[in-house]
Amino acid sequence: MRLALFLLIIAVTASAQPKPAADLIISNAKVWTGDDAQPKAEAVAVLGDRIVAVGSNSVVLLWRGPQTKLIDAHGKLLVPGFNDAHVHFTDGGRQLDNVQLNDASSADEFVRRIAEQAKRMPKGAWILGGDWDETKWNPPNLPTKEMIDPVTPDNPVLLSRYDGHSALANSQAFRLAGITAQTPDPPGGTIVRDAQGNPTGDLKDAALGLTDKVVPPPSHDQLVHAVKRALEYAASLGVTSVQTMNPEYADIAAFSELLQNGELTTRIYAAPLITGVDDQVKIGIRHAFGGPYLRIGAVKAFADGSLGSRTAYFFEPFSDEPNNHGLLSDEMQPLSLMRDRMMKADAAGIQICTHAIGDQAISIVLDLYTDVVKAHRGAERRFRIEHAQHMAEKDFARFAQLDVIASVQPYQAIDDGRWAEARIGHDRASRTYAFRTFLNHGVHLAFGTDWDVAPLNPMLGIYAAVTRATLDGKNPNGWFPEQKLTVDESVRAYTMGSAYAEFQESEKGSITPGKLADMVLLNEDIFSIDPIKIRDVKVLKTIVGGKVIWDPTRKLPYSNAY
Ligand SMILES: [Zn+2]
Repeated sequence: MRLALFLLIIAVTASAQPKPAADLIISNAKVWTGDDAQPKAEAVAVLGDRIVAVGSNSVVLLWRGPQTKLIDAHGKLLVPGFNDAHVHFTDGGRQLDNVQLNDASSADEFVRRIAEQAKRMPKGAWILGGDWDETKWNPPNLPTKEMIDPVTPDNPVLLSRYDGHSALANSQAFRLAGITAQTPDPPGGTIVRDAQGNPTGDLKDAALGLTDKVVPPPSHDQLVHAVKRALEYAASLGVTSVQTMNPEYADIAAFSELLQNGELTTRIYAAPLITGVDDQVKIGIRHAFGGPYLRIGAVKAFADGSLGSRTAYFFEPFSDEPNNHGLLSDEMQPLSLMRDRMMKADAAGIQICTHAIGDQAISIVLDLYTDVVKAHRGAERRFRIEHAQHMAEKDFARFAQLDVIASVQPYQAIDDGRWAEARIGHDRASRTYAFRTFLNHGVHLAFGTDWDVAPLNPMLGIYAAVTRATLDGKNPNGWFPEQKLTVDESVRAYTMGSAYAEFQESEKGSITPGKLADMVLLNEDIFSIDPIKIRDVKVLKTIVGGKVIWDPTRKLPYSNAY
């Protein structure tokens, strides 16, 4: 048997065609590989789902055979596929079908869009989603149920604020949920009321739970549909891998079905809530368990809230609210509860990703990680802190010492940068979204978006990290410009950085022979154009596992990859 194989190898080597022909060759490209061994190239050859050659046109074209598909890139930029290290993939897909309110620039526009959605929906169906942001309106007042009742007579409505910490319901939703002026605020939540004590329609934090029992969960078919929408959208933006945070198990079942049908065109790493850590521990699943398209073996924990809702947990009070320095999440009360769960996950080899935004929450999570390392030592674990927004000076070095990955979302810097300084003051803002300081300390950065909290488009994230130009146009030279990254550093954080964050740096993250053939062809060279224009750059082709899954000129549907 061994001898036969040996002879076969001899025979292949000795023949006129020394290699199998490539399935796909992209030539005449400006290839940015992300691989220091060969940073630039003209062409890439793919065999099966892997890259087999990277180099000059003449060298790579030696791989051409009669069946090889050839893409002439006409000098356009080819980069590794983008890997979004923090999304809510199913929510994002559902949101694509829901009413879009995030960019509604006035209360009138907000109401108009809800009215349109109501006309499209069957009677009695819930109108959900939204992601509204009243800070974009003038005056920036919370919306009320009186605004939307007249346009939603036949549908219950529950619309989330973009940060997920508040929602607006209409009167019909309140009737179904049994919420009246007499309903007391639940612990940790607020039913917002007017001067007469009547509910306005807004629910905050734990009060959102009051509607849980009446909003029906999505069916399996609805989830599959939502994931298909998300896959198609990700492909159109050059996002070839995502790391999805706190999915429901039902979401993973939908991914799994699509995987089996060969319809999963974005690679997914899923991190369900740490509250269910026992489930993965019982099966013996370890970090990055699975195959190239679907992996699990991570857990997502919550340490605190958000800056927008003033629930991020700081050492010092908010500058504009002296009696409030934020809240630790209920998972952290008591801290021993979180420590026990982390110990359990780590002992089993499961990766821990913890949402922490305020400086004290981050500090406490680093303390907990230190405890875990002391107890277990050895193992390669790659702890992550999700968001890592506001750091205490002393903690940057601790990220590096513990090799904690800063899983950050640069778009939030140019969004929150509009108002963050008023909330936390200049000094703390100087250590906010501090990407440069992280790199200076040798911390691994992974880029993502938190979609659907923010847009999925990687070009917006790179634009944000490079310009730090806030969305209100008030900081054209950058908000805390000393924290700007170069385009090169940003693309690395969005490719190799995110690959490292999911233990996949030897499989993806650069255009390197042997790696998965996930690549994106862009219509502009983001490394040489004015950074202001990066946000408008479009994807010409998205390639996953050697298959073109997006091409705007061919209007490819996600399931008809060629
Ligand atoms: Zn998130």
